Amino acid sequence: MASALARLDVPFQPVTYATSGRENIHASDFSYSFAYEPAPEESSYQLKSFIRTVKGNPDADYADIRNWRKITEFSFAVEGKTTDLFSILPKDCEVLINPTSSEPLDSMSSTPPSIYLVGDIATPHKLMTLLHEIGHFFDDTNLEKRGTDTLMRTDYDGSFDPRNARDAEMLRKERNATAFAFKVINDILPNGQLKKDAFVYLKDYALQTYHSFIHESLSHRAAMDRFYRSDVDYYVASDKAQEEWDEYEEWRKTDAYKKWKALPENAAVSIEAGDEYGHWRQWVQKSGYDFYKDIYPDPEESI
Ligand SMILES: [Zn+2]
Repeated sequence: MASALARLDVPFQPVTYATSGRENIHASDFSYSFAYEPAPEESSYQLKSFIRTVKGNPDADYADIRNWRKITEFSFAVEGKTTDLFSILPKDCEVLINPTSSEPLDSMSSTPPSIYLVGDIATPHKLMTLLHEIGHFFDDTNLEKRGTDTLMRTDYDGSFDPRNARDAEMLRKERNATAFAFKVINDILPNGQLKKDAFVYLKDYALQTYHSFIHESLSHRAAMDRFYRSDVDYYVASDKAQEEWDEYEEWRKTDAYKKWKALPENAAVSIEAGDEYGHWRQWVQKSGYDFYKDIYPDPEESI
């Protein structure tokens, strides 16, 4: 991870940021251009709130709005097709960068729509972070279409820990935002070291953002963490993995699980160690066991 990140911090081409300017960045198979000007003084309120959210240092260089630039134009060109970033972001979305710091303190907010990036967007590293933040807006838009701001059930039964719903929803948001960045990177970067590094970084990024939100380490969460680490390729490909994990958790509440767990071949694995899920899933595949009937004993409840 450390060497991948070091390579990703090397800019596609060096940029010296002035008070305002315009840059054309030529990467291997694509290019992007952006223009910037001083960040408006009135954004300093939003900056302060952002510093609080990410628990940043209020005395650091990045806490001073005068060290920030406002991105006024940004477009990607891939295989002759140009995409204007601001045409896909919410109207009036403010994109600010602090090119002279390098702390990993990036953030986005839906209200007012804004993206704050600490670092040089001429590097693959910050370009991916930007894509990740854009991914959050896509997620928000999709949720809006459904008329909700969460996909997790919060009205579950009495045995349910609402903290897990909140964590799961945060994790889902991060997964989706990273999946978006993943797809774009997969489309625009040619196969090679840079693409490999990008994937290593994005996999780890999903976990870092997850950890920055959640400080407690309940076994449930530790197990989920293991799960996401090992199956990260799979989850980026689809949301099916989350569904399957949820099914597994449901099945663990049943008597069928207790019987299965009592068998000698299943005694060594545990959810705490993070190896039970994979072991169980393999067994389901091999045996063809219909665990849905345990989760939904009444056929009328199953869909
Ligand atoms: Zn995020």
